[in-house]
Amino acid sequence: MTQSKTALVLHGGAGVLAKRSYDREVEHMRGLAERGRTLLKDGMSAMDVVTDIIKALEASGLYVAGKGSSPSSDGRYELDAAIMDGPTRMAGAVASIEGFIHPIEAARTVMENTPHVLVAGDGAARLARKHGMKEVSDPVNYYKPAAVPDGRAIATGTVGCVALDTQGRLAAGTSTGGTLNKTPGRVGDCPLIGSGTWADSYVAVSCTGQGEYFIRALAAGTVASRIRYLHESPEEAAIYALKDVKRLGGDGGIIAVGADGRIAFPYNSQGMKFAAVFTDGHIEAGVRAA
Ligand code: ASP
Repeated sequence: MTQSKTALVLHGGAGVLAKRSYDREVEHMRGLAERGRTLLKDGMSAMDVVTDIIKALEASGLYVAGKGSSPSSDGRYELDAAIMDGPTRMAGAVASIEGFIHPIEAARTVMENTPHVLVAGDGAARLARKHGMKEVSDPVNYYKPAAVPDGRAIATGTVGCVALDTQGRLAAGTSTGGTLNKTPGRVGDCPLIGSGTWADSYVAVSCTGQGEYFIRALAAGTVASRIRYLHESPEEAAIYALKDVKRLGGDGGIIAVGADGRIAFPYNSQGMKFAAVFTDGHIEAGVRAA
């Protein structure tokens, strides 16, 4: 079935500092939203657009993912990422991967080139190497932790993207350096399918916030279930999931796009960096600061 409606939302994390300017990030995200809009209109698949946008977010150094990742408590950079294809519900993820420019590509390789969904640690690195992914040759100089702007730390700042393409296909992806000073080996919600990332034929979802709460709330899966079984809108379902996260003591944000192109990007943390392309083509970008 060919339909013409396309939509996209991306986020740069729910961790924001009240008085810091995020003009650079917002400008960057607006540019990516424009790029995503063009790629979708040109007929690129939601899966390829999500991959493309997340790679750009990872390479920018502006967010706590890829180049901007924050280190674990022992100074190492252990990254998580996941990607999911709505129509097939194929998914791939890497956890605690070290030494690669684009963890999202490694996640996609897990989906496309293995029978698995999640590969962690050294195994993930070996798989990425085998498939020729770009490596970080000098971690000390490559990473520029975006979580510590001007010496002031924020704990979180994951990136994510959800898209609906001209064929009606949905896809979601999330990539993160995790939380600042995390315990070595800690895995957050992003690479756990149904917690931080989800896509099916109803909705594509990517979450951001302290991952432990999103895991315990099964946040992304909850959004999907409420849409599927209760026929809620992406906005209603995402707000419900965030309330559950809050009940457990956490906060953060969720981006979602439904099969009809309705989008949502609520948050209940101090703010969320985001850009959104609505079905009529207009773009909104900003830092939603509370
Ligand atoms: N959810 C991420 C994690 O816990 C952090 C974030 O969203 O910034 O690893």
